[in-house]
Amino acid sequence: MLITALVVIVVGFYILEAVLDYLNQGTANKPLDPRIAHLYSDGERNRSVAYSAEKSRFGFWSASFSTVVMVFALSYGWFAKLDEFVRSRFENEIVVSLAFIALLSVISWWLNLPFQLYSIFKIEAKYGFNKMTLSTFISDTIKGTLVASIFGGGLLAVVLWLYQNLEDNFWIASWLVLSAFSLFMFMFGTTLILPLFNKLKPLDSGELRSEIEKYCDSQGYSIGRLFVMDGSKRSTKANAFFSGLGRSKTIVLFDTLIEKLTTKEIVAVLAHEIGHYKKRHTLSMFLFSLVQSFAIFGLLGWLLSYPELSTALGAQEPSFHLSALTFFILFTPLSMLLGLINNSWSRHNEFEADTFARETYEVAPMRAALEKISTDSLANLSPHPLYVAFNYTHPTLLQRIENIERQ
Ligand SMILES: [Zn+2]
Repeated sequence: MLITALVVIVVGFYILEAVLDYLNQGTANKPLDPRIAHLYSDGERNRSVAYSAEKSRFGFWSASFSTVVMVFALSYGWFAKLDEFVRSRFENEIVVSLAFIALLSVISWWLNLPFQLYSIFKIEAKYGFNKMTLSTFISDTIKGTLVASIFGGGLLAVVLWLYQNLEDNFWIASWLVLSAFSLFMFMFGTTLILPLFNKLKPLDSGELRSEIEKYCDSQGYSIGRLFVMDGSKRSTKANAFFSGLGRSKTIVLFDTLIEKLTTKEIVAVLAHEIGHYKKRHTLSMFLFSLVQSFAIFGLLGWLLSYPELSTALGAQEPSFHLSALTFFILFTPLSMLLGLINNSWSRHNEFEADTFARETYEVAPMRAALEKISTDSLANLSPHPLYVAFNYTHPTLLQRIENIERQ
């Protein structure tokens, strides 16, 4: 019964994604609104449509593959077999859970590897976006695995220990530990983790720096930490982001953004990022994520007391890792709902940050920056509204232009 529900959820989610993608491909070719139609030449529009189509086809095949593997794994008790394999080698329950999760991560990484390579070195390269070399890919993988093993493994070990020793209240204690860790990463992640993967250096003095300082002074924002990151090491796509809070607040501009945009356009992007800070977007979204994880841990704590969560997967005895796995599959519909809420809130915040940039700086460079960033990455300028609701953290280009030009 429970196993049927799990298969239905996995397949249902796959069908939903395929339908959204299908709808989105349907609108990719439709004539553009006159306010943005001039942004692409015919040739560029065709390239943009072809790029979207290729990514969507690729997404379909990769999702089909992982869904088939998942359905087999559920139907034939592969998770229980992996559990037995690990148990035949280790005694300690915490070690068993850690080894099970580590092995499962390694297996899914290998299964996903061909798709990852194809996406970076075939699709992204074909449209001229990829800058990543194979050696960067390998060093990223090694560093990523180390970071995930140290932090992920460490946190998991603490959660497992709490589960064994606290029983009923383990979920509150685990949530507290995880929240403390998230807060630490929220404040210092850009300082501690990002430099492992990228070079960050303070923006040199010059025209751009003095324009930025002038703007920041006018807003009473102390620049403190403003970095240029070598995004060009991996992709030609331009970007910028804000992170941290209080004294740890940091703005990161990609070198690709500086290369492609004029000084005024870059200041407009920076004004947008400062807008996120002034409107407390990063902080409120972080706090909301803690509320969400509180609810998720509460549910997990409650459902872990049902041995059926493990036995449904074919195991003889209940275990933390098998029950948690079932829990996260059961949770998919709810997490999709949370995704819709989070995305919609994020799009709302993007509008507010754009408006902030318009009110405190200028409309024209903000608009030009948005246009350049979108067209330069061959963005789909006519996505389907349902696809946007499920997948977009930023409003569409047309919506953002409408918003900043509204007086
Ligand atoms: Zn933003």
